[in-house]
Amino acid sequence: MWLDRNGLPPPAPYTVARMIDTEKYATATVVSRRDLATDLWVVRIKPDCELPFRPGQYVTLGLEIDGHIVERPYSIASDPAEGEIELFIERVPEGELSAPLHEVPIGETTLARRRCKGLFLKDAPVEGRPHVFVATVTGIAPFVSILRSLRRRAAAGEWVPDQPVLALQGASRSEELGYADELRKLDAECPWFTYIPTISRPWDEPGWEGETGRVEDVLRKHADATGMSPGLGAIYLCGNPEMIANSRGIMRRRGFTDKEIREEQYWPD
Ligand SMILES: Cc1cc2nc3c(=O)[nH]c(=O)nc-3n(C[C@H](O)[C@H](O)[C@H](O)COP(=O)(O)OP(=O)(O)OC[C@H]3O[C@@H](n4cnc5c(N)ncnc54)[C@H](O)[C@@H]3O)c2cc1C
Repeated sequence: MWLDRNGLPPPAPYTVARMIDTEKYATATVVSRRDLATDLWVVRIKPDCELPFRPGQYVTLGLEIDGHIVERPYSIASDPAEGEIELFIERVPEGELSAPLHEVPIGETTLARRRCKGLFLKDAPVEGRPHVFVATVTGIAPFVSILRSLRRRAAAGEWVPDQPVLALQGASRSEELGYADELRKLDAECPWFTYIPTISRPWDEPGWEGETGRVEDVLRKHADATGMSPGLGAIYLCGNPEMIANSRGIMRRRGFTDKEIREEQYWPD
């Protein structure tokens, strides 16, 4: 093997650049991870400095690959009150960043832009309006962040739930639902919250008793139960662009305007 002049082996492909712009980037250590499937994991990172964010914002992670920094945004699933940043990530086959990111072990570092950004849930929760959150797989992350935050604020008397919140999450298989246990528990504990997961490959899971089919079809079925009506909508769509386009179409046909429908699309159509 080739060794450098100090007798050390060449850096692994995910090694953080030595000449990084420290005003732009912090380093963040991987402190834990939970693998849900071969291509899907929840990871918690601890930045070396404060990285303030609001629920619904994303952090931009980076790795130095072949001499340049490759970066991508990832929605934050943790409550801002937690000390660490939690992310729910899918490894895209041959994805330039997600594939090497998947290989970063606990204890290693990544780069993280010092400013978290995003306006997706900026206005949420809108007072007096029922809310519908619709996600495909990892698109549940920003909703987990706001739900953890709302639960904490409700317990502290800082937020009074006045309208229902419905979260719908679609995946191919139940193992991809990621936060199903946490969200079912929240549903059982909080009268204001309902969680409805759906899987699109139920033939692989004969024991599954929940909804089946695409999440936009489940939206069509359950949206009315929140009591939401045009002019009083707060609909938030996150993840797969096709789901977003279909869900937007469904809600528009029911009379909701684009102002009532917010979107966070994870990749281009
Ligand atoms: C605001 C925002 C928040 C995001 N939050 C998350 C998140 O919480 N978790 C997460 O896993 N990803 C999230 N993404 C997507 C993420 O930023 C990357 O695009 C993704 O990890 C793929 O990057 P890559 O370099 O591995 O793939 P690239 O080499 O950039 O290839 C991406 C291509 O793969 C295809 N593709 C297939 N499946 C996906 C997929 N699931 N995501 C993206 N592209 C896909 C698309 O056609 C896309 O053009 C978010 C994107 C945005 C814009």
